[in-house]
Amino acid sequence: MNPEFQKAIPLLSKIEEAGFEAYFVGGSVRDDILGKRIADVDIATSAMPEEVKAIFHKTIDIGLEHGTVAVLHEGIPYEITTFRAEAEYKDFRRPSEVYFIRSLNEDLSRRDFTMNAIAMNANGKIIDPFHGVDDIRLKVIQTVGKAEDRFKEDALRMMRAIRFHSQLSFTISEDTMNALIRNAHLLEHIAVERKLAEFEKLLSGVNINGGIRVLVNSGLFHYLPELLPYKQQLIHFAEIEMAALNIEERWALLVHILKKDAREAQSFLKSWRLPGKRIKVIIAIQNGLDLRLQSAWQPLTLYQCGYDTAISVEKIVNILNGRPANAHLEGVADQYQDLPVKNKSEIPVTGNELMQWLDRQAGAWIKTDLQSIEEAIILKKLPNDKESIKEWLLKCNQSSE
Ligand code: ATP
Ligand code: MG
Repeated sequence: MNPEFQKAIPLLSKIEEAGFEAYFVGGSVRDDILGKRIADVDIATSAMPEEVKAIFHKTIDIGLEHGTVAVLHEGIPYEITTFRAEAEYKDFRRPSEVYFIRSLNEDLSRRDFTMNAIAMNANGKIIDPFHGVDDIRLKVIQTVGKAEDRFKEDALRMMRAIRFHSQLSFTISEDTMNALIRNAHLLEHIAVERKLAEFEKLLSGVNINGGIRVLVNSGLFHYLPELLPYKQQLIHFAEIEMAALNIEERWALLVHILKKDAREAQSFLKSWRLPGKRIKVIIAIQNGLDLRLQSAWQPLTLYQCGYDTAISVEKIVNILNGRPANAHLEGVADQYQDLPVKNKSEIPVTGNELMQWLDRQAGAWIKTDLQSIEEAIILKKLPNDKESIKEWLLKCNQSSE
């Protein structure tokens, strides 16, 4: 058994000793069967949340209304969720109410895909009423039960099918695909935050190109933020080899392919509800890319971008020009290293000193002069020390008078 599961066996045993059932379920069981590294080990149990809390000394309520309690075991947090069925689905959304049950099979039957509806007990025995193991071997994504019904219950499952296609390179079964095409419009009812979570996993997938193609061919892209007018651009995006790009670089490339300027990009990324901090990173790459596509790196543009952004930009430029993403990155790194300063804070003058030296009152001129100093230093027209800067400034001011 995978060591990640082994570490958690004492938790299953404790629940069993208290007279309940407990199993490993969900993504970790699927990924283990696939031979992939497993992330979080999730546990499902017949014990009610209050019963789980009584079994363990210390628990954290992280989603009590959904039946989830977290337990810390040897430094690792585990989510233990009571078997549940979902109350009537309304408005094509996951229901807000769930009810707890004692039957594993019923819990597995509300799960989305057969590959995600497999449980494993403490002895490594697999419980697989929907033949998920076969589907994993065949590399097929197939809903538990009729796809049509399952997508009508919760339309997000369509996005999930496509993100698993991108992550695992499994094919989507014919039934599931047909239902996806017929019900794409139901995605309209889903909150952007849930769409974003799945879209980001799609964007990070090894088969991102396939994932984007299915998004286009199924029509699902119509119901994602601000993508409706961009069918051709998405098709183009799906042709680009992106293996070497990280998620922010992939977003930046998408924004570039959609031909958004900085302001439009901002509103596009906001409409996806991406956190402001991440939008900043993506926009910085996009701005750098615009500059870099106009000309080779100049000291000033490299300085403005900063190292990480410049490298991200260069990877994207390489890809757009059909070169391997990592080609000539050392050249950019060397050019960056050669900059006399990397940051404003390395320049040893302040606005106050400028006012003293020139005997002038505070004003907008300070910012302009500091910028000129910065520029002259970066262009190596001026050494980066206080005396040289003072001398240079006094000389400039004489000649401008
Ligand atoms: P990942 O490895 O990306 O976390 P995962 O399969 O664990 O993949 P999660 O979103 O963490 O996906 O969900 C955990 C499990 O909960 C799934 O494996 C599936 O059994 C079930 N599940 C999640 N979302 C849904 C849904 N919308 N409808 C039905 N079952 C779902
Ligand atoms: Mg998971």
